[in-house]
Amino acid sequence: MELHSDSLYKGLLQSPELSEYILETAVYPREPELLKEIRIITENHPLSIIASAPDSGQLISLLLKLINPKKTIEIGVFTGYSLLLTALAIPRDGKITAIDLDRDAYEMGLPVIKKAGVEHKINFIQSLALTVLDELLEDHENRGSFDFAFVDADKVNYQKYHERLWKLLKVGGIIVYDNTLWFGTVVMPEGSVMEERREDRLHIIEFNRFLAADDRFQISQVSLGDGITICRRL
Ligand code: SAH
Ligand code: CA
Repeated sequence: MELHSDSLYKGLLQSPELSEYILETAVYPREPELLKEIRIITENHPLSIIASAPDSGQLISLLLKLINPKKTIEIGVFTGYSLLLTALAIPRDGKITAIDLDRDAYEMGLPVIKKAGVEHKINFIQSLALTVLDELLEDHENRGSFDFAFVDADKVNYQKYHERLWKLLKVGGIIVYDNTLWFGTVVMPEGSVMEERREDRLHIIEFNRFLAADDRFQISQVSLGDGITICRRL
């Protein structure tokens, strides 16, 4: 795998070997068996490249343990790696509103979620995420009530999700955005980026600029996985 190439390599570190080192040393040995199972099932999916990165997942899991959230939301479930990770980390009475257009992918991982005994924490909604967020906002009791959100869906809508999540989140609540370094393409000249990544590259660049100036949140851009940005509502 080439350094800074636009390849399938998910990590952003200076060498793929370093990224592999983190996975092999710190992440895989600690990865819960059932998460590993979802990861391996997902390898059979033609779009397996879009599954969440286990190293950023490990940080999210730690973050969830610190904040102990009861009411959470996930936008972009796919086969459920981040969903199971969240369900395992939140308390017994914690809930996840999990939204994805694709029920088939969710059902690929669902048997593992059931085996883990955490299905009762999950309310899966097959829908466009914006529709669900707007419905949630109609009920005023939802405003300022969420402790945590994970956003990992269509990059073009990140800013729209952000405006809605801001209203849904408690002060002190956390949003984590995935793919905020977009395969490292945010610093590549457009011409060297594979065509199917160009449009989202621009959305991510714009979103990162926007977040950096958004004084309603404390932020941290973390270069694990494909880049995640952690935002705390002030
Ligand atoms: N978090 C997942 C990966 C998500 S991949 C994991 O841990 O593996 C992105 C997902 O977003 C896809 O499953 C796709 O169906 C979903 N998605 C894309 N646009 C969407 C939209 N507008 N509304 C809801 N889901 C969407
Ligand atoms: Ca992702």
